[in-house]
Amino acid sequence: MRSVSPLAVRAASPPSSRRVSSPRLGSRGRASFAPLARAGASGDADAAPPGSAASAATSDRVSRLQNEGAYAVLAAATALERRGVDVVHLEIGQPGFPSPPHVVRAGVDAIETGKTKYSSPAGVASLKSAVAAYVSRTRGVPVDPAEVVVGPGAKPGLFFPTLALVNPGDEVIIPDPGFPTYRAMVEVAGGVAVPVPLRPDGASFDMDRLRRAFEEGNPKMIVLNSPANPTGGVMPTEDVEEVARLAARSDAWVMSDEIYARLVYDDDDDDDADDDASGVDRVRCASVFGIPGMRDRTVLVDGFSKTYCMTGWRLGWCVAPEALARKIELLVVHSVGCTATFTQEAGVAALEGPQDGVAEMLEAYRERRDFVVDALNAIEGVECPVPAGAFYAFPDVSSFGMSSKALADLLLEEGGVAVLPGTDFGENGEGKIRISYVGDMATLEEGMKRIADTLETLR
Ligand code: PMP
Repeated sequence: MRSVSPLAVRAASPPSSRRVSSPRLGSRGRASFAPLARAGASGDADAAPPGSAASAATSDRVSRLQNEGAYAVLAAATALERRGVDVVHLEIGQPGFPSPPHVVRAGVDAIETGKTKYSSPAGVASLKSAVAAYVSRTRGVPVDPAEVVVGPGAKPGLFFPTLALVNPGDEVIIPDPGFPTYRAMVEVAGGVAVPVPLRPDGASFDMDRLRRAFEEGNPKMIVLNSPANPTGGVMPTEDVEEVARLAARSDAWVMSDEIYARLVYDDDDDDDADDDASGVDRVRCASVFGIPGMRDRTVLVDGFSKTYCMTGWRLGWCVAPEALARKIELLVVHSVGCTATFTQEAGVAALEGPQDGVAEMLEAYRERRDFVVDALNAIEGVECPVPAGAFYAFPDVSSFGMSSKALADLLLEEGGVAVLPGTDFGENGEGKIRISYVGDMATLEEGMKRIADTLETLR
């Protein structure tokens, strides 16, 4: 039996009440706003009216679930737009590029040729093979198609393995700040999220705190996310190796969310990126998956949303040791049943077709990153590390003396620019905001101007 460590106590924090504002006309021609309740993803996902029959009836399992901040801010910004307010969107982590044309064609062809029936729950054979070959090439470790479970997005690849591994009371170490689904999936499984802070530049865990979490606690699993949302940080190889050692010593699992693995900037012409004949590079970030001995205790999660701009197709996968993969498959059987068959055909085209689009997209993101980071650092009182991957900047704005939430609200309300408060990613995100630089240069230029102008008013 695993015991709950003192560290776990920090995991509980009451749901925050979220407020934004409603419009009045602002001084610079844009509207500004007086308070109104912030809508959730589906209108008011985290706002069951207190005392209603529904809120009394819901299970403990969902009692602490909160909405993903990006959806909530998007909903608030969209509500403002419906009232005629001009908002620059820097909140959502959705590639601005369209899905590649050959992928779209493959999806349409699949529909037209009747690939519109159920598929086998873990995925069509051609996609499982394509994923196994892709992971083998990009991570340099042989993978068998039987170890692959396909799902509608990468999120099922996070959720289902967690449900399959975590017992009530089990501790799971998650990065803080980190992607909000990590806490959600652990808590729905009845586990105890143990948030471990990142180091100041967001590239990795504070390794001393991480060692302590392993020594003082009894983690069943640790979640890694490199390159990371929200910081864009890429973990140094030695830290990934140390995580592997710590996990092996504690008999813990590692869930490695590598959804941004192809989005690493080649800033110092990194050595481990070798083109191979297929046109798919070895990923430029260290992966725990390739460390000897780790395959048996690692779940690798990846997908199509970011690399191939396929967020709305809903397609991703996890790779797990076969016995675990079969349990994950059963969770697919009894929940979503399977993933849309024509979407999977499009996925095969994405993995096996031309890869030049990924390199071009990365180059465009690099230009946008450089612009955004320079523009942020040019604002007095803002400090922004240069992120080595993904498409997020995570500047420190603590010098303005406001909470991240208040500052993000102000930027939306007074500045007409939507960003996410760092605290949407955990309490150690306080003092930071997340900026997604997926938009085109004109959008980013306007967004940076609005941020600079709004922050200027605080001095
Ligand atoms: N992991 C991370 C770190 C993410 O940022 C996201 C999407 N924002 C996901 C997983 C989920 O990806 P998908 O949309 O493919 O489910």
